[in-house]
Amino acid sequence: MSEIANLQPIQVWKFFDLICSIPHISKHEAALAAALADAASAAGLTVECDPIGNVIIRREASPGWENAPQIILQAHMDMVPASEKEFDFISTPITPYIDGEWVKARGTTLGADDGIGVAHAMAIVTDPEFECGKLTVILTVDEENGMSGAANLAPAALQGKYMLNLDGSDRGFCIGCAGGARQEFSFSARWDELPENMPLYQITIDGLPGGHSGLCIHENRGNAIKFMAEFISQIPDARIISFNGGTADNAIPYQSAAIIATANLPEVMQSLADAFIMTVKSDTPAAGNMVVKLAPASGSRCWDKALQDDIINAIILAPNEVIDFDDDLGIVKTSSNLAMIDTFEDHILIRSSQRSLVDADRDDICAALKTHFELFNAVSTLGSVYPATPPKSDALLLKTAIQCASMHGKSAKPYAIHAGLETGWFSMKNPDLEIISCGPDHHDYHTPNEKLNIPSVGEFDHFLRELIRKISEK
Ligand SMILES: [Zn+2]
Repeated sequence: MSEIANLQPIQVWKFFDLICSIPHISKHEAALAAALADAASAAGLTVECDPIGNVIIRREASPGWENAPQIILQAHMDMVPASEKEFDFISTPITPYIDGEWVKARGTTLGADDGIGVAHAMAIVTDPEFECGKLTVILTVDEENGMSGAANLAPAALQGKYMLNLDGSDRGFCIGCAGGARQEFSFSARWDELPENMPLYQITIDGLPGGHSGLCIHENRGNAIKFMAEFISQIPDARIISFNGGTADNAIPYQSAAIIATANLPEVMQSLADAFIMTVKSDTPAAGNMVVKLAPASGSRCWDKALQDDIINAIILAPNEVIDFDDDLGIVKTSSNLAMIDTFEDHILIRSSQRSLVDADRDDICAALKTHFELFNAVSTLGSVYPATPPKSDALLLKTAIQCASMHGKSAKPYAIHAGLETGWFSMKNPDLEIISCGPDHHDYHTPNEKLNIPSVGEFDHFLRELIRKISEK
């Protein structure tokens, strides 16, 4: 037991301390799932562990509450491993400690995302004194690494009308999230001999802000792959030897590199690069720190010219960034992120990811991109697709949550995000569900600076109990 096990409310912190003591990064949640299932069984509850590793705990209505609506509490068991030193997350427990008003971990992520959500749900469902209607607790695996737990959850677990997703923050109530899809566009490689007597240049574009392709896509941060294609298109005799860029399909690319052959002398190339930087800075202020570096390079062959024209034009003309905006919610409705390009021996591969608050709009933008890239002779493949939670802004659960929060002078603002959450899968499997995401005050997720505010855990426990009681009384 660590010092946090004595904090108040003691039931929540005891569970959070237990969670910290059992390693539980994504795909390695089985030991934690078993411990939580044991704790629920010991409290006399019905426990089911499904084939993918999720834990579903059911509690019958308290006497006198048989007619109250069923409520689902949901959180994810896995955490993100991030550390500032060598740390074996598979076998070493997290060491939480108290620093003033905060709980932190020593040099690693704390895993309050979403261990504290799990702890809140466990504290309530195992509390024999707390009376309410039927409660279901759903603890999923793998939220941080593909959401296979939520995606594979049996719809039968989602019976009921109200779900509290405990993977949110104290920012307000999250009532909607974007769905998304990944797509790949592959061009068959055709190679030419290099033109004679042309110097080769390595061009590197770097220094763009990058960022999350959902949460930052409206900020016009600039796309290093698009910029590279535009720059190369301004060099009429350029022949491409290679073109690579981007780091992940959910990140805006901040860096790209290409090797080209051109008759231009280094001074000419440098002045073209300088002029290009000036244009980018005036059109895209957020890309103001972009640099274009030139260096001598070597190579033995280049892309066929028709292939090069197809790829460069396809990239320049592809719909990208914000496609549609939701004015009521004040967030992006539909977006596209041209995320990566890689040159391989036999093909050139472009990867992109699309998001939308509306699943039909996500499918439309995917279809438009497929048609677009096929016009330039690419083969399009649809990768993983995940659903949205369409916001329900006049739902009873939300109204009741706002009432409970404002009684304590808490931020009660509903909002939606242009990124994927597990709730998308739950909305798809049970469209009648009213879902809000909320949680205690918690900062710097997914970093070794992750910290959880101690007083907010007590406030959130109080809020949750009050909200469950109020909904039960409806
Ligand atoms: Zn989370």
